[in-house]
Amino acid sequence: MTDEQLLRLCEKFGKRALLWRQKFTGLLPEVNRRRLYEKRGCQSIFEFAYKLAGLSKEQVQRAVQLERTFLDKPALHELLVRGQASLSKLAKIASVATLENEEFLAEQVKRLPRKALETLVRDERVFEKQNGVPKPLFAVKVVPGNNFELSDEVVQKLRRLHEQGQDVDAILLGLLELREERIAREKEEVASGLKATDSHYIPVRVRRVLREEFGKKCSIMTCPKPAEEIHHTQRFFLGRSHDPHYLAPLCHEHHQLAHAVDVRVREHW
Ligand SMILES: [Zn+2]
Ligand SMILES: [Zn+2]
Repeated sequence: MTDEQLLRLCEKFGKRALLWRQKFTGLLPEVNRRRLYEKRGCQSIFEFAYKLAGLSKEQVQRAVQLERTFLDKPALHELLVRGQASLSKLAKIASVATLENEEFLAEQVKRLPRKALETLVRDERVFEKQNGVPKPLFAVKVVPGNNFELSDEVVQKLRRLHEQGQDVDAILLGLLELREERIAREKEEVASGLKATDSHYIPVRVRRVLREEFGKKCSIMTCPKPAEEIHHTQRFFLGRSHDPHYLAPLCHEHHQLAHAVDVRVREHW
């Protein structure tokens, strides 16, 4: 057997071992409820799970606890007891799961890798803080962090204006508005010069205006990561264009989430 063959065999068997263990783990809460482990001559569910599948006590506890958490959330409950999702993924979303979002979350657990789920949970928490009103993914724009600094020159000029009795806040707001207007105009110009295309290549002038608007960061307000990919907020095949009004630079995880949300929209409306 070559190295490559041996490795591939390990990967194949490893994947199956994980899947079967996941299915086994899903049965445990019910075994526990019926005290079936006693029929097998075991003192506890832990002994039972260890003897039959080599599971640790922590894994068993986690499964039993999660199953209890999901009792009133049928879609997530089913994922667990049928062994259709790993405990670590289910544990990630358990803290934000509600009756309202559990079906959506169950979909995402099946669809998304664990890192993207982490991002999703972080976003859900932020939404919760905003009175539980979920913001659409693209209504938010970049804001600077709390820890940026102004240069001495800028501080001096602002202080001088303030001493003159000028409304510094209004002056700054006006400047920011001018900038936004300029970018909006540029976007308009770029958009009007675009022709319908089948190419997925995003023209340089489109990228440039996006860069001006969003900087280097993921365009989700709460996300600190750099933008890695450009997402078409309007399905590319609908518009067949790279109109910057419908593009958003995103980090890899938010890009995965954007597509997951897109699916939700398609299914529910
Ligand atoms: Zn995309
Ligand atoms: Zn992001």
